[in-house]
Amino acid sequence: MSELRNEYLAALGIPVWVQRGGKADATDPGAPGTPSLDDLAAQVRACTRCALHASRKQTVFGVGNPSADLLIIGEAPGADEDRQGEPFVGRAGQLLNAMLAAVHLARGDVYIANILKCRPPSNRDPKPAEAEACTPYLERQIALIEPKVILAVGRIAAQWLLQSDQPIGRLRGTVHSYGTASTPLVASYHPAYLLRSPLAKAKAWEDLVLVSRILNDPS
Ligand code: SF4
Repeated sequence: MSELRNEYLAALGIPVWVQRGGKADATDPGAPGTPSLDDLAAQVRACTRCALHASRKQTVFGVGNPSADLLIIGEAPGADEDRQGEPFVGRAGQLLNAMLAAVHLARGDVYIANILKCRPPSNRDPKPAEAEACTPYLERQIALIEPKVILAVGRIAAQWLLQSDQPIGRLRGTVHSYGTASTPLVASYHPAYLLRSPLAKAKAWEDLVLVSRILNDPS
């Protein structure tokens, strides 16, 4: 990649991924020499690509097993996450941990991330421009982790990842396909919603069983 192209990409606010040793490529997440998750987290910590950088306490990159078979994706950090720098903490996080335990998974077995790495003020919904600006980081995470299945929790995450305006009740209960790698994607309810609507837990359990079936499929 030429220096000139790097300068253009930087001017456009597009992250330029620099290989340790000098090579750079901003277009191929799966290419050898792309940054590690730690490198990517450092890029995110310095990110000012959307206005949310101004109000965050800290970025919330993601946490878990970097080689996880299951990647869980929510929409954005809330107040607790913004304070602690970790996704899905607080009561919703505890419920997520309990749900994972029910299918014999520990929190450390999976990887957990959000579409946005910075908290929207007052926990408002992410704006499309913010999701657009932040999605390249998530795409890099997915390419590096190479999960066997993605679990999108909540309407916003599911609709954004599937580029759909269908309600979560329609998106859940089936296996979708995500990205060029055609990664199986299951949509389900957000744990925060389940805390408010316990009757939906039975359906969330069905979704987890579906995820578990994919994880345990030897093919
Ligand atoms: S939300 Fe994403 S794109 Fe916006 S400043 Fe944070 S890391 Fe950058």
